[in-house]
Amino acid sequence: DASSSGKVCTRFDLEKETELRFEVEAGEAADQVEMELLTGMAEVFGSELNRNKKYTFGPGSKIAVFTWQGCSVNLYGKPEVAYVSKDTPMLLYLNTHAALEQMRKQAERENERGPRVMVVGPTDVGKSTVCRLLLSYAVRVGRRPTLVELDVGQSGVSVPGTVSALCIERPADVEEGFSVQAPLVYHFGSTTPGTNIKLYNKLTSCLAEVFSQRCEVNRKASVGGCIINTCGWVKGSGYQALVHCASTFQVDVVLVLDHERLYNELKRDLPHFVRVVLLPKSGGVVERSKECRRETRDEKIREYFYGFRALSFFPFSFEVRFSDVRIYKIGAPSIPDSCLPLGMSQDDTQLKLVPVTPGRDLTYHVLSVSSVDDGDEDARKSIVESPVCGFIVVTNVDTQAQVMKVLSPAPRPLPRHTLLIMDIRFMDMK
Ligand code: ATP
Repeated sequence: DASSSGKVCTRFDLEKETELRFEVEAGEAADQVEMELLTGMAEVFGSELNRNKKYTFGPGSKIAVFTWQGCSVNLYGKPEVAYVSKDTPMLLYLNTHAALEQMRKQAERENERGPRVMVVGPTDVGKSTVCRLLLSYAVRVGRRPTLVELDVGQSGVSVPGTVSALCIERPADVEEGFSVQAPLVYHFGSTTPGTNIKLYNKLTSCLAEVFSQRCEVNRKASVGGCIINTCGWVKGSGYQALVHCASTFQVDVVLVLDHERLYNELKRDLPHFVRVVLLPKSGGVVERSKECRRETRDEKIREYFYGFRALSFFPFSFEVRFSDVRIYKIGAPSIPDSCLPLGMSQDDTQLKLVPVTPGRDLTYHVLSVSSVDDGDEDARKSIVESPVCGFIVVTNVDTQAQVMKVLSPAPRPLPRHTLLIMDIRFMDMK
């Protein structure tokens, strides 16, 4: 069967409570796949589909079209895989949503705050997808939940190497995910919390503080509660970071995806009033290779500068004089306790701003533009705990002329002159 666009067309008839899973081949040269709902009703990760509208999915997409009532769907193009599965945990996820909604109703009645939910589990169990599902279901019933993104490796909100919070006001777009307007973003600087666990915990506390403040002045935000997406690192300090997050956000519910030991440990270590729930992962979640994760990260940075399909941005490229900016790295390499200056603790070194002398090795690094400038000692102290206002990438360094060329979403001059360097690099292939 061929469609008007000349692409191969395959029709799938789905019974109730089943899902069509398909993957689009990864890589630059791969073809997109289009999907159209013909009859019945269906959703993609909690967002309802319109009938007779073609949705386009780019290379590397992994999608599930789920139907509660039954439906038929056309796929145009050649997906790498496409099959219908009857075995999905969607009913359990929907029940989870229903339980959270009960908590919000109760919060409304009793003038309390709504549920704060932390989603945990190892990598590739569908944490981000479960967050998206629960958030979309919540907005669909009129709530205004907050997404807290603590996954520094695969952030759904901003570029990698950041943690952030986003108020959700409408369900995720089927093709593009949540619309990201005015997120609150903090610089972490690397793709794994392990590179600076003190900083990671500090930033988690900052987000919790800001969220709590917002809840105090915004009743809808308070009742809506939050859904916290976490990293897949669930052992050692990674586990401690989860416990820290639960305590600083005062979470009420922890959803553990597919990890019984983690479930038991959290049940043991969290206060008894925290509801720890073990949920299965969906068989549809696809394991992603290191390479694939790197590509997703790159794509996220590219999107930041160039936009996404319908919404293209045109970034700027200009020169910045070394003397006009100050570049810092957060955290000095740790030194043995016995060598620390008197009165200084290891914490201090991990949260310290270390000046970076600009040189050729800055090339391709992503830099966060801090929202505060390092006027005096106090300002300098607050930089670590302050949000950032954007990102630039160093594309070239001229040590002779003492300038660097940067890629920036806005024209010159930079809005602030305090820059924080990330471990993360981005090579612009455009
Ligand atoms: P990470 O290890 O990065 O934290 P994660 O646990 O958050 O990963 P997700 O990002 O939610 O996992 O899911 C991984 C991939 O699997 C995504 O591309 C997602 O679109 C896909 N996926 C999730 N659920 C399904 C499903 N039921 N059918 C098909 N694909 C799915």
